[in-house]
Amino acid sequence: MPVEKPHWADLYSEVVTSGLCTGCAACVVVCPHDVLRYNDEDGVYRPWKVEEDGGPTDCTHGVKGCTMCTRACPRFRDWESEADTFLFGRVRTDEEVAGVEGDVLLARATDPAVLEAGQDGGLVSAILCWALDHDTIDAALVSTLEGDGSSWKAVPSVARTRHEVLAAAGSRYTYSANTLAYVDAVAGGAEKIALVGMSCQASVPAMMKTRKTGKSARRLALSIGLLCSKTFDDAIFSELFEARYGLKRADIKKMNIKGVFQIWTHDGTYHEVPLKEAHAWTREGCKACPDFAAEHADISTGGIGAFNDWTLTIVRTEQGRAIIEAMAADGVIETRPADEDPGAVALLHKLARVSRRRWPDTAATGPGRIPVATR
Ligand SMILES: Cc1cc2nc3c(=O)[nH]c(=O)nc-3n(C[C@H](O)[C@H](O)[C@H](O)COP(=O)(O)OP(=O)(O)OC[C@H]3O[C@@H](n4cnc5c(N)ncnc54)[C@H](O)[C@@H]3O)c2cc1C
Ligand code: SF4
Ligand code: SF4
Repeated sequence: MPVEKPHWADLYSEVVTSGLCTGCAACVVVCPHDVLRYNDEDGVYRPWKVEEDGGPTDCTHGVKGCTMCTRACPRFRDWESEADTFLFGRVRTDEEVAGVEGDVLLARATDPAVLEAGQDGGLVSAILCWALDHDTIDAALVSTLEGDGSSWKAVPSVARTRHEVLAAAGSRYTYSANTLAYVDAVAGGAEKIALVGMSCQASVPAMMKTRKTGKSARRLALSIGLLCSKTFDDAIFSELFEARYGLKRADIKKMNIKGVFQIWTHDGTYHEVPLKEAHAWTREGCKACPDFAAEHADISTGGIGAFNDWTLTIVRTEQGRAIIEAMAADGVIETRPADEDPGAVALLHKLARVSRRRWPDTAATGPGRIPVATR
């Protein structure tokens, strides 16, 4: 029997149009024939194929044997067990709803400027600064805001310096396919690249490595994941924040989600928007996502817990552990055991379980689904 070589036509029917596609853009950046594009207009956040070479639903290069897009995709078939096995030598158990965990701790930057710029403990930015200084990476794929920031449009960007890392710090709650910035990073000469991204993007490097996508797999040297329940459509700014609460996007200085949408405006005032009002603007690509805890990152980071200004940190891989230990030894971060905040760890597992339920029964079998009996 001939070996199956799944390609764009399979990705299109099984992921892009089936509701599984998160919009992570991994397929777009690995395509060696440059026939895939990315639509981030009007809340779409999906790959699409140009008319040439087979039309939008098929690909002549795929028919001839190119499988690159399906190999990069962290939602194609048994993506989860393949990435688990590659990173941890085993598949996570059904009880490991937040993935294979390693060490769980609280961490924060000791540099006041990094701590101040960061969303929680500034750990992500501290890691990027340290990794750039120590030649572990030569660029990071991050998210910035378009222009002067007043539009709140999140844009995938490359950070090569401490200044650029700090300019990108903080959280935006609309989608930013940071993977897309890979092309600019490589054009600028980068060979060791960190990908910062939500859980869906954090699986990209492991997926590329285990399914062997060549140079892209080698260059993505570090994966830093952001815990994530969902992102919101850009329309939330005009249709909810402004229409119901009178908060214009240009007036918003910072946002956070801690049970409610917390919004600080440039005039120094603070506002809260109930999360249940925001759910109607959930981005389509998040609705079937089973991964809250960035289960395939080297280091996963989140803001839940009793302690503001600390990052809840899951150190998953040997590489992640080596980085955190070296940073602590250098004094650029301080850490404390997660046991000091048992509520945060309990909430991590609770939210991870909620996300697990979203993986549809119609998708590929495998550990991505939570057994029906335990839902
Ligand atoms: C959309 C979204 C949803 C989240 N949901 C949760 C949650 O439900 N529970 C939880 O505990 N934590 C959540 N987080 C993670 C949390 O907000 C912090 O990002 C995390 O704790 C790291 O904080 P830090 O201070 O260490 O990072 P920082 O030093 O502030 O660095 C954050 C990094 O994230 C990048 N980034 C910011 N916004 C985006 C974006 N939209 N897309 C891609 N990259 C981005 C920045 O460029 C920066 O490099 C979410 C983050 C995002 C972006
Ligand atoms: S999940 Fe990512 S890699 Fe898969 S089809 Fe969607 S954008 Fe492409
Ligand atoms: S919930 Fe978060 S991790 Fe999942 S698809 Fe949406 S943005 Fe990605």
